[in-house]
Amino acid sequence: MEMWYTEKQTESFGITAKITKTYVHEQTDFQQLDMIETEEFGTMLVLDGMVMTTVRDEFVYHEMVAHPVLSTHPDPEHVLVVGGGDGGVIREVMKHPKVKKAVLVDIDGKVIEYSKTYLPSIAGELDNPRVEVLVGDGFMHIHDHKNAYDVIMVDSTEPVGPAANLFTRGFYQGIYEALKEDGIFVAQTDNPWFKAELIKSVNRDVKEVFPIVRVYGANIPTYPSGLWTFTMGSKTYDPLEVEESSIPELATKYYTPRLHKAAFVLPKFVEDLVK
Ligand code: SAM
Repeated sequence: MEMWYTEKQTESFGITAKITKTYVHEQTDFQQLDMIETEEFGTMLVLDGMVMTTVRDEFVYHEMVAHPVLSTHPDPEHVLVVGGGDGGVIREVMKHPKVKKAVLVDIDGKVIEYSKTYLPSIAGELDNPRVEVLVGDGFMHIHDHKNAYDVIMVDSTEPVGPAANLFTRGFYQGIYEALKEDGIFVAQTDNPWFKAELIKSVNRDVKEVFPIVRVYGANIPTYPSGLWTFTMGSKTYDPLEVEESSIPELATKYYTPRLHKAAFVLPKFVEDLVK
């Protein structure tokens, strides 16, 4: 019998994948965690019924969280990743030559544990000696660390359950204070087709806290609508002023020095959301 997994993206629309195996189906202390094998996209991590990552297209999201912001800061030595327990963002951060130390704080130790077992190509750098992995609430972590990081990346689940307070003005204020005086942060900010209001409200909140706010996009086939946005808030450096020649040519599959500025050119209907 054929088995199909469907993520309902609205009450009347979803995406679906044929699955060949279920490795994990477990309710953790924080969320429903499923690790499944799909025929088209390989191993897939699903949390609370939402696709988090797949082996085939994960590189787009993880590169696009990590590299635009690391290329914008001239000296990104100390990096914090909030969420990101699958390790994909950390793998990309470790490619950057100037990063001395990265701290990852995910609330759910089970995501880290199962990603190491079933997603080794994604989680492989979590044991890098330059990485410190903490299990805890990212909201609390940023409030306990003032003036500590050059770059903060928010690789969280959608704003339900444990990540609900990671999409609030109070969280962005905490991030501002956890950053050094020329720090930058980036957060994944969902898709403009089904979450337009969220993108608008995040943009408004981040603009109240940071003087420079920029939104960029990427194409991710297994995420709702395929068009994903990221919001960057910066105290000093503007990603649009980065010289292409200053961006290191890294071992990436989506992000390049040429793509850096192009990613900030948004379709008109998305531009209108963040004006
Ligand atoms: N790429 C995904 C997406 O946008 O669909 C998200 C990646 S997934 C690894 C996000 C992680 O955020 C999960 O492992 C979850 O446990 C973690 N998370 C959710 N709320 C959190 C919080 N308050 N503090 C730290 N981590 C949190």
